[in-house]
Amino acid sequence: MKKRVIVIGAGLCGSVVSTLLRNDFQVTVVEQGRKKKPLFDDVDCDSGELNTSINRAEGLGGTTNYWHNALIELDDKDLRKAGIEPRGFAPYYQKAWEFFLSPGELADCNRARDANAAALEGSSSTIAHMVLPQTRHNVWSLANERNRGDKIDVVYGHVRRIGDGVVEIDGDRGTERLRADHVVACAGGIGTPIILARSLGRDRGFVPGYHDHPMAYVAKIKLRPDSRLKKVSSTATLSADVRAGLVYESDDLKTVVYLRPAVDMRLASITGPARYILSDLRNDPFSPKKIMLLLGNLEAVREAILFKTRLGFRGSYYSVLILGEQTPIGSRGIQMANGTRPSLNWHVTPGELRSYEASVDKFFAEFSADILERKVVPAASWEFRNAAHHSGTATSFVPAPGDTSVDFFGVKDLPGAYVCDGSLLRAAGIANSGLTLVALSYRLAELLRASA
Ligand SMILES: Cc1cc2nc3c(=O)[nH]c(=O)nc-3n(C[C@H](O)[C@H](O)[C@H](O)COP(=O)(O)OP(=O)(O)OC[C@H]3O[C@@H](n4cnc5c(N)ncnc54)[C@H](O)[C@@H]3O)c2cc1C
Repeated sequence: MKKRVIVIGAGLCGSVVSTLLRNDFQVTVVEQGRKKKPLFDDVDCDSGELNTSINRAEGLGGTTNYWHNALIELDDKDLRKAGIEPRGFAPYYQKAWEFFLSPGELADCNRARDANAAALEGSSSTIAHMVLPQTRHNVWSLANERNRGDKIDVVYGHVRRIGDGVVEIDGDRGTERLRADHVVACAGGIGTPIILARSLGRDRGFVPGYHDHPMAYVAKIKLRPDSRLKKVSSTATLSADVRAGLVYESDDLKTVVYLRPAVDMRLASITGPARYILSDLRNDPFSPKKIMLLLGNLEAVREAILFKTRLGFRGSYYSVLILGEQTPIGSRGIQMANGTRPSLNWHVTPGELRSYEASVDKFFAEFSADILERKVVPAASWEFRNAAHHSGTATSFVPAPGDTSVDFFGVKDLPGAYVCDGSLLRAAGIANSGLTLVALSYRLAELLRASA
């Protein structure tokens, strides 16, 4: 008889892990949402638009019901900082790329990456090679297509805690307890630490380590007609869009600069609540508040159309969007509240802001000959928004980093319990973490299958 595995959460990691294990284990997935729905009230947070724009979601596919599906690798330095031994990790990245793209599609994207690297040769920045497949995948559907096999049982309910091979679930039938040989928590960088804190008696405790990628529009620029920055900002292949971000490092923190097409030098489209409006509306099209915001900022609409249709990527005007690296600090994390709603303390520290500002200055200095005009938002007014890569919050529950065995994923004091999601990452550089999380899911599944 097969051993039993319970996977908590049917989001990005839960979908990949459960479908990879389905033929070797009897797999049950516990998902709190019956339908696709944004999560606005699982935690309190008064910064970063965490609860006012779509930032997390439930239902089969979890947050990938709404994500942009941008794929990017961590470099070796970032992997080390994240707690992942880079040696031996490349094959898992390869599996992760192949999960999203066919070999031919991947080869096209790699060619665009090499051309971008050649165009920027000699620059003091490094390149963030970002691939956006044209199809935005719900990963539950994609994983079930890629990894077919035995039936996976789906149980709908909210997992309260894990204890000694038992998962306690609040569902339609009241509280249910399911037994398993292994439990894999894939409830996300906010959901997982809450379950672990409840499971380990830290119901009133503070769970430190949270980090994300604060993002903000910081300037508009006008580029010289022949600027190489235009060439690298967006390259379309048949199946994906390849973007080169410029990465600068100041005080051991990275900042990546992306250029987005703009209509002119006015700052109205990149300041105030409408600055991400088209992306917000795409996910939440019937929100009257958002429609009103949109109508009040037609400049933002025009620029979003230039961006989406790629028409603007050869034009003269661009908005400068940055994403900054954060690292775990003791005061940033989740305050548990003994049965009531936990709260997330997310903020950008003065030191982080100084580092991002220094990196933006490096960008302006490096490309001063390309930039004909610039209008900069003062750093004190940068409006940071949380980029939804919730990370770092399980690090106080798992053993030392760098281990390549299954212990890397294991929860201290909860035998048979593992974590696989952003909460494991001790750092993420400037990378959207999805590709790395898929790579980690492949690694955990391989290690568990070896023990089946
Ligand atoms: C608008 C948007 C765009 C994004 N774009 C990108 C991008 O381009 N590239 C990228 O890499 N990342 C992107 N992200 C982030 C990415 O979606 C997440 O990093 C990723 O989905 C995290 O995967 P996960 O498995 O950790 O969690 P999730 O996908 O969030 O899944 C967690 C699942 O667990 C369930 N759950 C939580 N708690 C419980 C519980 N107690 N009991 C039962 N079930 C529970 C949830 O309902 C959910 O289904 C984006 C996010 C958003 C919001």
